[in-house]
Amino acid sequence: MAERLKRRGIRVTAVTKAVCGHPAIARAMLDGGAAGLAEARLSNVKRLRQAGVTCPITLIRTPMLSQVDDVAQACEASYNTEIPVIAALAAAALRQNKVHDIILMVEMGDLRDGIMPQDLGDIGQQVVDMPGVTLKGIGANFACLSGMAPTAAKMRALSVLANDVEGRCSPFIETVSGGNSANLPWAFGACATGRVNDLRIGEAILLGVDPITGDQIGGMYRDAFTLVAEVIVTDAKSVHPLVGNSDHTLARIRLVPDISKITRIILAIGYQDTDAAGLSMPPGNTLIGATSDHLVIGTKDAAFCVGSEIRFQMSYRALMRAMAAPDIQINLRNDRPATNAHKVHGPSKHLTLV
Ligand SMILES: *Cc1c(COP(=O)(O)O)cnc(C)c1O
Repeated sequence: MAERLKRRGIRVTAVTKAVCGHPAIARAMLDGGAAGLAEARLSNVKRLRQAGVTCPITLIRTPMLSQVDDVAQACEASYNTEIPVIAALAAAALRQNKVHDIILMVEMGDLRDGIMPQDLGDIGQQVVDMPGVTLKGIGANFACLSGMAPTAAKMRALSVLANDVEGRCSPFIETVSGGNSANLPWAFGACATGRVNDLRIGEAILLGVDPITGDQIGGMYRDAFTLVAEVIVTDAKSVHPLVGNSDHTLARIRLVPDISKITRIILAIGYQDTDAAGLSMPPGNTLIGATSDHLVIGTKDAAFCVGSEIRFQMSYRALMRAMAAPDIQINLRNDRPATNAHKVHGPSKHLTLV
């Protein structure tokens, strides 16, 4: 991906938020040609820094006012829309004898964070006038809140905005970040890329898919991550609950025999660990439902027994939940196994497994 985008004049800033700033995965992204890393959370940036990652890291969620000192310390740059935050970052950078790079996020239709295009010149000028920060670039974001895909016209508009800001506030706008994985069809297409010279890519690197269509991106792997869950109950219910009316009290549920050849099994994984709806079921299995700690699956496979393992591919949301869940053990190929954050607990005296 880095090579294909390079031919189009675009560098990859690899986004590590879905893997919680996992240092080994971040290093793999850098080895693969990413020019730098981007993170949404300061805690993940700190994890990367503590692991010795020294490349430029950009915070892509506008910083919390309460974290500006640490942001100036750990990140070369951040995406911003709020002048009070930028002023606080500038003050923090001055205290550290540093200059912090500001990238202004522009609203291009996703309606999440972003400065309205007509206000960009004013805010850009204020940033330029502030010691402690420099106006490094502008960026847009698509298909996150609204699902709106970037169009060629929108991308041309972003290039025009970059030129406008330069004309008005004078400095060279070094970075024009066009968006995220949803921009790849545009970036690999025939349109001129204009001033856009950066994309922030997470999902497409990690899962190999276009986030809008779900289609595989040529040459990318879809199975870089696998979630393995253990069966704890087999043949859970060979009856169907029949709910008598809309009042779901237990008294009104009758159980009727299930005549299908589907067996219900339960896996020791639930909403606390992942997004159940984002798991792709192996053939012959269907998702029946999930609770905080259980995943109930209907299966035609009679071979499953207690202790069997079932493997799933994950959506981006399922992946990011799993990577952050304390009970999911992360094993990397060619790396030592490590649990997420905490040490593995043995059964505690004061706790009973329910
Ligand atoms: C998450 C995020 C990205 C990366 O999006 P992907 O779909 O994972 O490529 C880029 N920019 C911002 C601001 C983000 O929050």
